Amino acid sequence: MQQAPVEFHHPAPRSAALRWTPATVTALFELPFNELLFRAQTVHRQHFDPGTVQLSTLLSIKTGGCPENCAYCPQSAHFDTGVEATALMGLDAVLDAAQRAKEAGATRFCMGAAWGVAPRTAILRRWRPSSGA
Ligand code: SF4
Repeated sequence: MQQAPVEFHHPAPRSAALRWTPATVTALFELPFNELLFRAQTVHRQHFDPGTVQLSTLLSIKTGGCPENCAYCPQSAHFDTGVEATALMGLDAVLDAAQRAKEAGATRFCMGAAWGVAPRTAILRRWRPSSGA
């Protein structure tokens, strides 16, 4: 199947003629998977080293016991999912984990917290150096 190449513009072009339309997006999603994969790889190789992968580490700094009721999530306290709830990790433990991740080759360190609307002030209060966390 020979299709016209898909062109990506970043930032989005101001010209209406170059913008994506619903029909263009639909046509893209209807491509055979391998064609879509090929096009994605082509664009990726134009902008990135194809042999480079970013190594990231994700740490759950507060697991389970979330007061929210997202039915799909095992972190919710509303369901018996077998996930044991833990308190927010202390700052030193998080910093240790980040250091170990860096030493292991990670260039990005992400933190996740089971905590509906994360009360940023609560985290900052807990992690404030003077709090002894
Ligand atoms: S707010 Fe997040 S952590 Fe809490 S139940 Fe929903 S998805 Fe899970």
